[in-house]
Amino acid sequence: MRKLNLCIDIDGTVTQPHDWLPRANRFFKMQVEEKDVKKYEIHEVLGIKKSAYEEFYNLFGKLLHRDAKIRTGVKEVISKLSLSHGIHFVTAREEKMRDVSIEWLKKHQIPMDTISLLGTCDKVDRARKLSCDIFIEDSLVNAEMLCRNGFPVLLLDCSYNKGALPVNIIRVNNWFQIEKIIEDTSLKSEQFQSAI
Ligand SMILES: [Mg+2]
Repeated sequence: MRKLNLCIDIDGTVTQPHDWLPRANRFFKMQVEEKDVKKYEIHEVLGIKKSAYEEFYNLFGKLLHRDAKIRTGVKEVISKLSLSHGIHFVTAREEKMRDVSIEWLKKHQIPMDTISLLGTCDKVDRARKLSCDIFIEDSLVNAEMLCRNGFPVLLLDCSYNKGALPVNIIRVNNWFQIEKIIEDTSLKSEQFQSAI
């Protein structure tokens, strides 16, 4: 079995993807529903200026991250994978979110080797530094950028990341499917193996 370096996004990937919605609805006095979230950029979903969303995030970002709900299977699957593979969280969250991010991971008993808070969506350099074998993401734009640079991606299916995918991005529905693909991949010599 090969040891793989797994890079894992946080928001929408280990947390549930629509956590921000109730607070944003209250703040902006809107009634956007989960089914309406068809874009990744939240200000585009809400039809507001990016600066207005940034104001909201400055006020509530830490609370949103603290209260984020975990996706089904995350704790079990990452705990199991951590016994054989490297677990590296790579998030676009800013450095000032380090404490709240680490606290949240601890609270949910999610093991890790490293966490990178990049403050940008460009994760390619960090993936390279971490010798990433598989990246787990929910953003289609990030996934495509990683894929173009040679990193295979497992993309958690969400209402905002629909669309055709290149061969090195596999759409997955849950963390148990991720576990299966990673276990299969680590047993084979090829870089990436779809279990679907
Ligand atoms: Mg994300």
